[in-house]
Amino acid sequence: MTKPVFRFAPSPNGELHLGHAYSALVNWGMANAAGGRFLLRIEDIDTTRCTPELERSIYRDLAWLGLEWEEPVRRQSDHFDDYRDALERLIDADLVYPAFMSRGEVRARIADEEAAGRSWPRDPDGTPHYPGDDRHLTEAERRSRIAGGAPFAWRLDMRRAMAHAGAPPRWDETGLGPKEETGVVAAAPEAWGDVVIARKEMPASYHLSVTVDDALQGVTHVVRGRDLFYATAVHRLLQELLGLAAPCYHHHELIVDADGHKLSKSRGDTSLAALRAGGMTPADITRLIGLAR
Ligand code: GLU
Repeated sequence: MTKPVFRFAPSPNGELHLGHAYSALVNWGMANAAGGRFLLRIEDIDTTRCTPELERSIYRDLAWLGLEWEEPVRRQSDHFDDYRDALERLIDADLVYPAFMSRGEVRARIADEEAAGRSWPRDPDGTPHYPGDDRHLTEAERRSRIAGGAPFAWRLDMRRAMAHAGAPPRWDETGLGPKEETGVVAAAPEAWGDVVIARKEMPASYHLSVTVDDALQGVTHVVRGRDLFYATAVHRLLQELLGLAAPCYHHHELIVDADGHKLSKSRGDTSLAALRAGGMTPADITRLIGLAR
């Protein structure tokens, strides 16, 4: 029988904090309980924000917590070709389009609509949907703009993609969503509008790289924070479009600070490196995040 495959997939764009420790330890605990494999993946597609020093500190922090993972570790920046291949398939199927509007143009467009009393849809993170006017550009117009050096991003044509997928995707959730969703969850990727799939300077978005990698690595169980619950809808849709197997998902609670805010990498006070330097032991960390037995 093949073993279940779990993965922890941090981005080296800041120091790991208590929230990462919680996620990694929950993941590792579930992998061990299931007799599964545990993989570590470095999600560094944003090469402007990720650094080798921060990658090294991920290894240091996780080893300090007592975690062991399989080698070699998959580092996304070594695999841009895999994401490009997936993007090519979406381009060939006419499910993505080059989106040329700048942030300023998008803002102005939405401001006009709202000034005229029309409400504009926002995604689950609160970001307004992309207007998508350039869905309708002809092939010749697209080519000439790209040849002219216009900046653009590849966006998923959500309506076409949903139609192409046929039945709306579902997933098996063993954790809990923000509205206590669990069990078989009906995905609503259309809530995100035309999501970015790749940029000119970055051949994959988070959504594309995570979906491709989970499939290439044979991941069967995705365990991650509840903040990514609604993003799973996009991942499930991409799996359907690309013919990839669907893992099951477990979204866990988030560790919050004393004021109830989600911890972030910009708040250095709970970084594992700082806590370690202040004399804390791994057992103290487990206690702090409520995982001590
Ligand atoms: N790289 C993502 C992060 O650090 C996590 C991706 C995932 O677990 O799917 O937030």
